[in-house]
Amino acid sequence: MLDTRELGRRPGSQRQVSRTEWAPTGLTIDMLGVPEDSELALDLRLEAVMEGVLVTGTVRVQVEGQCVRCLGGLDDSLVVDLLELYAYDDHGVEDDDVSQLEGDLIDLQPAVRDAVVLALPFNPTCRPDCPGLCPSCGARLADDPGHTHAEEVDPRWVVLHQMVAEADQGKPAHPGPEKE
Ligand SMILES: [Zn+2]
Ligand SMILES: [Zn+2]
Repeated sequence: MLDTRELGRRPGSQRQVSRTEWAPTGLTIDMLGVPEDSELALDLRLEAVMEGVLVTGTVRVQVEGQCVRCLGGLDDSLVVDLLELYAYDDHGVEDDDVSQLEGDLIDLQPAVRDAVVLALPFNPTCRPDCPGLCPSCGARLADDPGHTHAEEVDPRWVVLHQMVAEADQGKPAHPGPEKE
């Protein structure tokens, strides 16, 4: 909870708040999430406005998950912008879309949760240029950048290629569609 009493409900009065909180459960999407109890570093400005208190700033979160290209582990941090207006609860505005102060207190968690989940990338990569997996053997190309395959041809195909080559001899170079 953030206490806004110092602002005295005077429009224009401001306060900087830096604090660390602990991540709740459920800050995740498919491949990626904020580990429970990891640090949420909040860096906020509280500003009294006519209707209530405007909170702007950032929250830095730890992110863990899986790279969509190479399926390797992913460990990163993300800075998420926050912007939320909290209306005074005695302001007479009953609107479910507007967050409300509880007395002089602000419960930041719902806004932080929404902002963080929205900011999580749907296609996370371990690094922007992750080369992914080799389509032939599935090796991680990041571990083996010069990865190549000698052209391996199944012996049965060699026979078939020979048969096709022999059959092609004596035909025009570009046979048209076959006619019945
Ligand atoms: Zn990757
Ligand atoms: Zn390969």
